[in-house]
Amino acid sequence: MGLRTGDDYLAGLKDDRQIWYEGRRIEDPTTEPGLRNTALTVAQYYDFQNNPDLADLLTYETPDGDRAHISFIEPRSKDDLRRRGAAFAAWSEVTAGLMGRAPDYMNACMMAVGAAGHIWGARDPARAKAAYDIYLHCRRDDVCMTHTFVNPMTNRFVPISDQEPFVNAGIVDQNADGIFVSGARMVGTLAPFSDESLSFGAPLGLVDPRDDVYALGFQTKVDNPGLKWICRDIFDPEKPHFDRPLSTRFEEMDSIAVFENAFIPWEDVFIAKDLEAHNMSIPGMKFMQSLGHHVVVKNVAKTRFLFGLAHLLAESSLVSNFINVQDRLGDILMWLQTMESLALAAVEGAEMNPENGIYYCNEAAINAALRLYPEVYPRIIDHLYQLGGGGYVSIPQEATLDLAELAIDKYYRGASADAKDKVSLFRLAWEMCGSGWGGRQELYERFFFGDTQRMKSLNYQFYDKQEATDMVARILTPPRDRERLAWPDKYRPRV
Ligand SMILES: Cc1cc2nc3c(=O)[nH]c(=O)nc-3n(C[C@H](O)[C@H](O)[C@H](O)COP(=O)(O)OP(=O)(O)OC[C@H]3O[C@@H](n4cnc5c(N)ncnc54)[C@H](O)[C@@H]3O)c2cc1C
Repeated sequence: MGLRTGDDYLAGLKDDRQIWYEGRRIEDPTTEPGLRNTALTVAQYYDFQNNPDLADLLTYETPDGDRAHISFIEPRSKDDLRRRGAAFAAWSEVTAGLMGRAPDYMNACMMAVGAAGHIWGARDPARAKAAYDIYLHCRRDDVCMTHTFVNPMTNRFVPISDQEPFVNAGIVDQNADGIFVSGARMVGTLAPFSDESLSFGAPLGLVDPRDDVYALGFQTKVDNPGLKWICRDIFDPEKPHFDRPLSTRFEEMDSIAVFENAFIPWEDVFIAKDLEAHNMSIPGMKFMQSLGHHVVVKNVAKTRFLFGLAHLLAESSLVSNFINVQDRLGDILMWLQTMESLALAAVEGAEMNPENGIYYCNEAAINAALRLYPEVYPRIIDHLYQLGGGGYVSIPQEATLDLAELAIDKYYRGASADAKDKVSLFRLAWEMCGSGWGGRQELYERFFFGDTQRMKSLNYQFYDKQEATDMVARILTPPRDRERLAWPDKYRPRV
């Protein structure tokens, strides 16, 4: 099929998906109030990739001879990663980094799944073939994916095998044609707007042989008859654009997937009752280095947008002249430059994996970016709160602004902006930091790539500490005559 257009994409959402919201089933996300606007935003992504002027920037010729979005590429060089990063950056610029789950994010994930046959196929080569075929299908049919990697939040303390069976999604049965899955998975962001869904992953570290039914990895259609999606509240109130410039475009929706004896044919299964493949999945497929590339590029755009917003907000009433305000603006700028540097280092420090010949982003740069942003983002939001003050609760709606009898311009104008421009800026900033939609953005940045506390703990546990501890040992070594400092082995003079 090759590159889909926005219309192709929207037509594909009209199927038998079971999306549940406020006690009823949503029949069609493309017409549902509160969701339909975001369906159009995703459609714009597909139109964007069809702009012939942007063909070299956004697409590549696949080994099949057709064109696909470059996020599907199997990177064989740093240059491939540079091209992928440029395409990520282009859509992130269009969306100001506010669409964490743009389709290109999961495209890169499906490439990583397909390229990790050495993990999935160690016990059963058919699983490696399935993984690669799933990737080819996603690339050839330009599939929009959601994913659910986490078990539901029922009990995080008791081992999975001691919990009620199949609350967590697992393999309840299997036959010559495929597996049957029951239980829940979270959090399917973008699910109502996706064609298919990927499930595998947490919790890693399963050792009890009874847990093998929970060691599974598969892809399925969002409208699998055995699959229900339960949505959180909708944050797009469908107010005028002036009043809600963000939630009316970027309501990605999050949902829980509930599988009820859902049938998955073997060709869509890449892990089946294989504890080793399951436990190796995230490090083995270099999950962080693959998806983290999209994250760090998205974070550059998002931080640039937040910097621009904070700067304009401060300028509007000239508080930008105060040194404490400049300190806060400079803080956001520092994080922007940090993310820019990490995005660059991620690609320029990339390495080839000898297992499959694929280039993956630099692990240290990606780790730093992924661990840092969940702490940086709330800090930037804190700056927005501080800069806006009571201005955030003094923002009339567009319809009120237009009333001549209220002399709005006199009381609402800024030092350098008329009332309408100033209020629109404050409304934008308040939606970013203080609205339900903005709160969800902050939660997203804190959690979407895992719990940062445990991710940092894992980083610490697995980090090779030798070089660091050797340095401490050398400084503790007493001086010997002119050798005031002990030599690292590599610099030791030959005698
Ligand atoms: C807005 C949003 C969108 C998301 N989108 C997706 C998506 O599209 N696909 C997807 O698969 N996932 C998605 N996620 C889920 C995300 O991957 C998880 O939220 C994340 O991995 C953390 O897991 P959890 O939410 O189950 O929290 P938990 O892991 O249950 O953590 C909750 C709290 O308990 C603590 N805690 C829990 N267990 C332990 C432990 N063993 N040791 C120490 N402390 C512990 C944590 O530190 C944390 O403070 C999304 C999350 C959010 C918030």
